[in-house]
Amino acid sequence: MKTIGLIGGMSWESTLEYYRTINEEMKNRLGGDHSAEVVIYSFDFHDIVDLQNQGRWEELEQMMIEAGNGLKGAGADLLLICANTMNRMADDVEADVGLPLLHIGDATAEAVKDEEMKTVGLVGTRYVMEGGFYRERLKEKHGIEVLIPAQGDRERVHEIIYEELCRGNVKESSKEDLLGMIRTLTERGAEGIVLGCTELPLYITEKDIDIPLFDTTRIHAKAAVDQALKDGEAEEV
Ligand code: GLU
Repeated sequence: MKTIGLIGGMSWESTLEYYRTINEEMKNRLGGDHSAEVVIYSFDFHDIVDLQNQGRWEELEQMMIEAGNGLKGAGADLLLICANTMNRMADDVEADVGLPLLHIGDATAEAVKDEEMKTVGLVGTRYVMEGGFYRERLKEKHGIEVLIPAQGDRERVHEIIYEELCRGNVKESSKEDLLGMIRTLTERGAEGIVLGCTELPLYITEKDIDIPLFDTTRIHAKAAVDQALKDGEAEEV
């Protein structure tokens, strides 16, 4: 099997779910005592948020590249950036590090297409909902129409992600707000909802809502296991 390199800590709450899902999935597929070969680079999330707030994306990209190079040196054959937001620079990190990098948007789009859906609602950070790197990728590369919440709701979900989800606790009222936004997206025509923030599935599950949810953390982690088990030697890009 290939070694999976995780660029994580954004936040560690969701990186833990990546590590758990990848190992559970590998065990399910191979049985016995099997687990995955994984190396993890986990950032201090404070530094990431600080730079994001200042719009210093080039420095963030350099940090992702350095982490990727570190993981390559530690034996990784493929890379994942364990956050929707930071997949913004995925293509450049892949090119610079020279290892295949599995884009979270591509993995999610494949799951949406498997369900034969054409229109989905997207909730995530402001960067994910408003930035072209996510919505345009889904639309142009995969033909999926993406609906996002209205501006006030986008600000609210962004605040909930950074002030509550990434800090490991969510108020009941915030969860209600998120579910309200999801219901509105459904009324506007979303056939499914992309939880486009890797911490959201820790608090919103299929039990909470009656249309299909796309849990980007699990989808991305499982797609990594698919790649790790694909035949052939590890490739350079
Ligand atoms: N984990 C979140 C995401 O999936 C947000 C944290 C971040 O800024 O990276 O986008």
